[in-house]
Amino acid sequence: MPESITRYPIAALISDLAGIPLIDDPVSVKRRSRDFFWYSPVLQPQLQDKFADLVVCPRNEPDVIRIAASCARHQIPITVRGAGTGNYGQAVPLRGGIIMDMTALNAVERQGGGIVRVQPGLKMYELDRQTKPNGFELRMHPSTKRSATIGGFIAGGSGGVGSVTYGGLRERGNICAARIVTAESEPRILELRDDDVQMVNRAYGTTGIITCLEMPLAPAWPWVDLIIAFDDFLDAVRFGSEVALADGIIKKLLSPITWPLPTYFGALRPYCPHGRSVLIVMVAQPSLAALKAMLQRAGGEITYEAESNETPGSTPLYEYTWNHTTLQVLKSDRSVTYLQCLFPYDRLISTLCDLQTRLGDEVLQHLEFIRFGGHVTASALPIVRYTTTQRLDEIIAIHESHGVMVANPHVVTLEDGSRHKRADADQLRFKHDVDPFGLLNPGKMRSFVPAMSNG
Ligand code: FAD
Repeated sequence: MPESITRYPIAALISDLAGIPLIDDPVSVKRRSRDFFWYSPVLQPQLQDKFADLVVCPRNEPDVIRIAASCARHQIPITVRGAGTGNYGQAVPLRGGIIMDMTALNAVERQGGGIVRVQPGLKMYELDRQTKPNGFELRMHPSTKRSATIGGFIAGGSGGVGSVTYGGLRERGNICAARIVTAESEPRILELRDDDVQMVNRAYGTTGIITCLEMPLAPAWPWVDLIIAFDDFLDAVRFGSEVALADGIIKKLLSPITWPLPTYFGALRPYCPHGRSVLIVMVAQPSLAALKAMLQRAGGEITYEAESNETPGSTPLYEYTWNHTTLQVLKSDRSVTYLQCLFPYDRLISTLCDLQTRLGDEVLQHLEFIRFGGHVTASALPIVRYTTTQRLDEIIAIHESHGVMVANPHVVTLEDGSRHKRADADQLRFKHDVDPFGLLNPGKMRSFVPAMSNG
């Protein structure tokens, strides 16, 4: 049994949960207590010995309610888990207790009128597969679309492929509704709509267990993947920016990636000419000709062009972008790590030049064009050559001193990882209501102090 088994009355919990599937063999429990925090050399030593006592696998919402009630009665922490692809220990149980594995709640409940109502454990690839026959798909998805769940994306993610058109999950209207179960001895079910869904958006599962989501959809265009090579990284950025701003061109992805990062791109290497930076693009088939006409003036060279393909056995082009760029590099070089940045929309190029002068090859830039607060700008997941925590902090400070907002991926709390360095006041207030004992993913919302204890 994992070491922490004696901390909580797990036997009493197991007896309450008769009929609900459980996993208690130590190897599987340990495996399900992990996510991708190993991307961070800072988090790796902090989280490597944090494990749950038990994994509980609800089959439906009534199971979720029974589990939440029993955990509240016995004061046992609950860390909800989708696919465990989060990057900063979001799904790691800092204080033991149970992992609630949501992957069996995976039904599409209904779709129509450009909206889908879906249970949280469905993988986003499968969700798109079910809505595409009706001509729709998710407005955006992380580059982990093929492995990650829709519930984990809403509770832990921020945006991704599609955000160049629709912005991130935080933009109003990008999540229609969320249904949650509270962590009380008599759990309530709450349906959060419109602005209220922000209570659970990127709250790391600290403000309720999501059992259903309503997501707005986008037209499912036939997408074309392109790699465009440029002699100069800044030319790739300039052209990406032009396309991002071209409102008549329908696109889903615009990712400028500086040389030498493409040398880590395995099967894509033949399409990434030596010494040249690349722009990775997903454009709707009807917009391809217009994009090519723009490119004639910009001087880039298309080295790869194919219909987007994410069927099993293939590697979609988007799996070289967003945080997959970091993964491609880490596959052969474990001495690097990354940051999560948002560039000022009105001085992108000059800021990139200043940072390049200041940091040189210690930081290799990789941007994602997105819409943010009504402007087109670039988020970035630069690859950082890691030396010490102190130097990493200096690099973050240098970015911030140039007006780049950094959401630090080397910390476990919502507050420290937020660009604003504080918990959303509404989320904090809401947590007191829905999780009065502080059982949901304890340790992740630093500002929260439970007002109640159960004995
Ligand atoms: P998990 O990791 O299982 O959970 C994430 C958080 O959500 C945890 O705190 C968990 O407790 C909580 N949670 C899960 N389900 C529920 C629920 N039903 N109710 C309440 N809380 C819940 N993220 C992006 O935003 N964009 C990207 O492009 C992106 N690219 C990535 C690339 C790589 C290679 C990797 C490793 C990660 C990337 N991520 C990205 C992070 C992550 O993959 C996504 O956020 C993903 O959507 C998380 O889904 P998951 O099912 O794995 O969630």
